Amino acid sequence: MKRVYNFSPGPSMLALPVLEQVQKDLVSYGDTGMSVMEMSHRSKMYQAIFDEAVALLRKLMDVPDGYKVLFLQGGATQQFSAVPLNLMQHGRADYVDSGNFAHLASVEAQRYGEVRIAGTSRADGYTYVPDVDVSPEADYVHITTNNTIYGTRYTQLPDTKGVPLVADMSSNILSEVYDVARFGVIYAGAQKNIGPAGLCVLIVREDLLGRANPLCPKLLNWQVQADADSMYNTPNTFAIYVAKLGFEWLLAQGGVSAIERVNVEKAQLLYDFLDESRLFKPTAQRAFRSRMNVTFVTGDADKDAQFVKEATAAGLVNLKGHRSVGGMRASIYNAMPVEGVRALVDFMKRFEAQNA
Ligand SMILES: *Cc1c(COP(=O)(O)O)cnc(C)c1O
Repeated sequence: MKRVYNFSPGPSMLALPVLEQVQKDLVSYGDTGMSVMEMSHRSKMYQAIFDEAVALLRKLMDVPDGYKVLFLQGGATQQFSAVPLNLMQHGRADYVDSGNFAHLASVEAQRYGEVRIAGTSRADGYTYVPDVDVSPEADYVHITTNNTIYGTRYTQLPDTKGVPLVADMSSNILSEVYDVARFGVIYAGAQKNIGPAGLCVLIVREDLLGRANPLCPKLLNWQVQADADSMYNTPNTFAIYVAKLGFEWLLAQGGVSAIERVNVEKAQLLYDFLDESRLFKPTAQRAFRSRMNVTFVTGDADKDAQFVKEATAAGLVNLKGHRSVGGMRASIYNAMPVEGVRALVDFMKRFEAQNA
């Protein structure tokens, strides 16, 4: 069966060479005579895969000394609980409410302490990223670097005045160059720009370890996981292996700065068309447009549904917007080739000619 262009927000497209390598290795990895799924996580052969995955991520993101890279489970959402449990030493944190996931993170944190909203665009339908005003008393400030559902991104990181910056980077990690040293903690569910769902990558500055609430579950305690090199219990071995292949693929593309240029080009292709379209309108404010999730509407729910249906028939799938906002969303993560975006724009032009 022919592969489609999959614009799913997550789990989303993986690069074809990654899938093909998985297929090749599936029954017997190298000369081991077994699948990666069948290997002990304590075995030498698996340890080599794991170490390489960590090393590649460190290289791709240029992670400085003094930061630990952990491979955890439970997706990004588990970290909505783990962040306050690990960092709310004085029971106070700032959260920026810039989208659905940002909101969920702030609501979960309220179970563990006092949450101050340091900026919000909720009343305006999250069409932009709000200004951030950090309290110097906060144990940390939490942001979401790319708002997956509303299609907005931070174009500039907030000045946190020394308060550790914690970022949910689930939907734009590895898509643009970030200076890791600006962050106390970065975490990301893997299913958008890294690999299979369920895995969560966490990068934490070492001085932020050892602050956990005594009631923090062991598996959520970053210090415990750092001491055990992410293997306090059995990690998601297969997902980490697929992530490693994804990191190798990205490195072969020239790394993050190279893919960032491609991502800018892809987003530009779509936004340029949307800005001129007589039928489609982009929904995010121009200055905050995401390069990963492009949201748009026709203004007519029936026409939106017709568009999604016809696009699907043309091999352009998963373009329906999130149920909470409607309209359309094209998620164009690292693995989406420029050709996929061109095909989408061409299809939109044809649809517009017939329907505007
Ligand atoms: C997808 C996503 C999540 C949720 O990830 P899970 O792995 O399903 O927990 C959280 N935050 C952001 C920004 C996301 O895009």
